[in-house]
Amino acid sequence: MQNKLTCIICPNSCVLTVELADGAVRKISGNKCPRGLQYGKQEILDPRRWLTSSVAAYGLELTMVPVKSARPLPKDKLLPAMEQVRKYRLGRPVRAGATLLADLAGTGIALIATRDAKQI
Ligand code: SF4
Repeated sequence: MQNKLTCIICPNSCVLTVELADGAVRKISGNKCPRGLQYGKQEILDPRRWLTSSVAAYGLELTMVPVKSARPLPKDKLLPAMEQVRKYRLGRPVRAGATLLADLAGTGIALIATRDAKQI
């Protein structure tokens, strides 16, 4: 079985052909550099995405505080993780890098603030 996908690591946007057999990657072609091999394998076997968003805040100088996942999340966990983010309310001052949620959608991956938010 063959899958075609576009490498998004750099602006070259190489079109990769990934050949699969018995659930394993047998061959990847179309990449202009080794990073495409790693990307193609990861994207086929365990696709992940960074979560970037913002959470509602109260009593702080910001009404919305920007956040991101500490690591890329499995793609199928993005929607449940976003639901957690949507429900979260931040009511304490934080520094950029502070952990707001320790476990997004059961992945063990934290949600962190990406900006300081001081009390009013
Ligand atoms: S395979 Fe290499 S050159 Fe091609 S898009 Fe990916 S990172 Fe860029």
